[in-house]
Amino acid sequence: MSFTLAIVGRPNVGKSTLFNRLVGKRLALVDDQPGVTRDLREGSGRLGPLRFTVIDTAGLEEATDESLPGRMRALTERAVDMADVCLFLIDARVGVTPTDRILGELLRKRAPQVILAANKAEGRKGEQGFYDAYELGLGEPLAISAEHGIGMDDLLRALEPVAERF
Ligand code: GDP
Ligand code: MG
Repeated sequence: MSFTLAIVGRPNVGKSTLFNRLVGKRLALVDDQPGVTRDLREGSGRLGPLRFTVIDTAGLEEATDESLPGRMRALTERAVDMADVCLFLIDARVGVTPTDRILGELLRKRAPQVILAANKAEGRKGEQGFYDAYELGLGEPLAISAEHGIGMDDLLRALEPVAERF
């Protein structure tokens, strides 16, 4: 058995970068299909020995500033409801924003399980944002860099107990 991981977070925190790292080239076929919605991208993820389904809340990029809050909530809810575990990304270089707080609240109420990660944590620019992430009340954050592949071992350790349940 396998589990489904939804990568959620506001635009620009690095969701798709992480999705691509976990899914690699296996996405191509899915994306090439005409008429496939791109609001939620789904792929086969791998991390170490684990195999799982990954969902990227991808449709946020096309939202205008005005449509963003409602659209982000709706898309995130759809992803959460498909997921066994949510990986909630914030941008460690920016810190916790009001939008992050809104999404954090939604996840706390709705998600079966949340793993919090401060992305873009490579180097020192992400240190403050990483510590800020504790204030979301979603447990201990992971410090990761989707772009540089940092913290993937910690992510694996966080996902291992999930995998054991499925
Ligand atoms: P999304 O909107 O949440 O899907 O974010 P993207 O994956 O499109 O990334 C937004 C921007 O952040 C892009 O310019 C990425 O190259 C950059 N980015 C993603 N991950 C990292 C990271 O770990 N470190 C840094 N410095 N930049 C990153
Ligand atoms: Mg994206």
